[in-house]
This record gives sequence, C-alpha cells and structure tokens, in this order.
Amino acid sequence: MSRIVYVNGAYVPEEEATVSVFDRGFLFADAVYEVTAVLDGKIVDYPGHVARLERSLGELQMGMPFSSDDLLEVHRELVRRNSMDEGAIYLQVTRGAADRDFAFPKHAEQTVVLFTQAKPLTGAKKGIRVISLPDMRWGRRDIKTVQLLAPSMAKMAAKAEGKDDAWLVQNGFVTEGTSNNAYIVTREGKIVTRNLSSSILHGITRAAVLKLAAERGMEVEERPFTIEEAQQAAEAFVTAATTFVCPVIEIDGVAISGGKPGPVAERLNELYIETGRKSAL
Ligand code: PLP
Repeated sequence: MSRIVYVNGAYVPEEEATVSVFDRGFLFADAVYEVTAVLDGKIVDYPGHVARLERSLGELQMGMPFSSDDLLEVHRELVRRNSMDEGAIYLQVTRGAADRDFAFPKHAEQTVVLFTQAKPLTGAKKGIRVISLPDMRWGRRDIKTVQLLAPSMAKMAAKAEGKDDAWLVQNGFVTEGTSNNAYIVTREGKIVTRNLSSSILHGITRAAVLKLAAERGMEVEERPFTIEEAQQAAEAFVTAATTFVCPVIEIDGVAISGGKPGPVAERLNELYIETGRKSAL
C-alpha cells in the first residue's frame, strides 16, 4: 500500500512525491533531519526533537521553515493519513534548490519532506552484536546532517562480518554507534556514556534515559570509554529514537553480560517506553 508523504506543503501518494535534481540536499547533503518514534499514534519526545532540529538548522545558517506547533501538526496529520499506530516519522529540511555552487544561495526556498515508516518498536529485544571501526565522519557530529555515507559504510562492514552494528572509535575512545549513542554499565553499576561535544550527536533518547536513570538513583558518569573497558563491563547498550534502549551483547567477538541482554538495559528500556508513552503528543 502506498504511503501518503508530505512534500513542501502537500500530502501526496509516495509515487507522486518529488524534489528537484538541483536540491542542495541531493547535491551537497546540505540538509538536516530528525527521526521521531510514534507510539499509540502519538509523537514521542517531540519537544526535544524539534529543539534539536532548530539547533541543527541554526548551526548551518538556516532557519526553521515552520513553527514548532505547525510542524507537530504535520507529524500528526501524517500519522492520521497513514493510520500509523507504531513506527517512525522521518523529517528532512534542505537548504532548497539552486544552481550548483558551493556558496549558499541567497534566496532558495527550503525543501521540507516528512514520511512515515510503520514498524513495531516495543517488542522484546534480543540484543545486538557490534564491531569497532575507526570513526571516519566529519567534525560536527552534533549537527544532524544527512551526510550518512560513513556510518552507512560502517554498518555494511558490520553486516559483512555477520554482526549488527559498529561502534566508532576515535583517538582510542568510542564516540558512538553508527546511528545511536553508546553506553556501558560498569561492574560497580555505574552507567557510563560519552560526554556531549561536537564528537557525537546529542541524542534525544540519551537525554531522556540519563534523566530517568538519575531520577531512580542510578549513578551516571559522562566520559569517554575504550573498547577494552566496554569488553570488561557488566553490560553495554545503545539508545536511539526508534531503538529506545537496546542491549549490546557482544563487542569485537567478546560476549557482554554472558551474551544476553543485561538487567539495567532492559529496565531502562521499559522505563523509557512507559514515560515516552505518557509524554507523547
Ligand atoms: N548518534 C547518531 C550518530 C545517530 O544517528 C542517532 C540517531 O539517529 C543517535 C546518536 C541517537 O539520537 P536520538 O536518540 O535523538 O535518536
């Protein structure tokens, strides 16, 4: 069945949805995106995602094409038109179409595209196996741009080895996963994840999960960690908008938490889903 997608003010069947070949998103990856989860037909963590969208756009000298409220309405309308109960909404804003030139055009109109991806998000998780790879991405990973070839290649390298994903390493320390933030739980029970900087994406799920953990008295430390430390850890996990909290059960061939999901990751996943449902808009 064809989806209804949103393109520049119109809701159209996906076969009819088009953007210009001159679009700078296509030519220069001059675009930012967001992915939000939908649970019970409602948008999870919307304020966080829209705030990050505005920041990403601002860092690239672009403005918001819509107000936060209008953008929420587009998300909701897409959910309604596609009768989606659970899944993801992808949103992309590009600088727009202009004759090809490295300099930003002065008067391009931004391109805005949103589409739904229906999929179950809340089932039990068996955990993922990851490999470590050098982080080859650019230096502004805090901006959520669509230049995703490096993480896409890392994901393919993991798949080629029969694994699920890659943890990216720079100067000896894990930055993050290809499309998620990375964590370990030390043998003392402390949750460790890399501190925020331009080296990683400032995950919306990360912020929510760290808040939940702190509220429940779990100790959290934001600092870099190595693959070796992760391999010795009691648990490891990743977070992302549609992955929620997903256990990591193997790192570079070394089983973590006995090769099965650990209790801290499972508990945080339940808590995140529970609070995410309650605050969804
Ligand atoms: N890090 C990277 C590189 C990502 O691509 C993503 C999500 O796509 C995340 C972290 C997690 O961010 P969020 O929790 O906002 O989905």
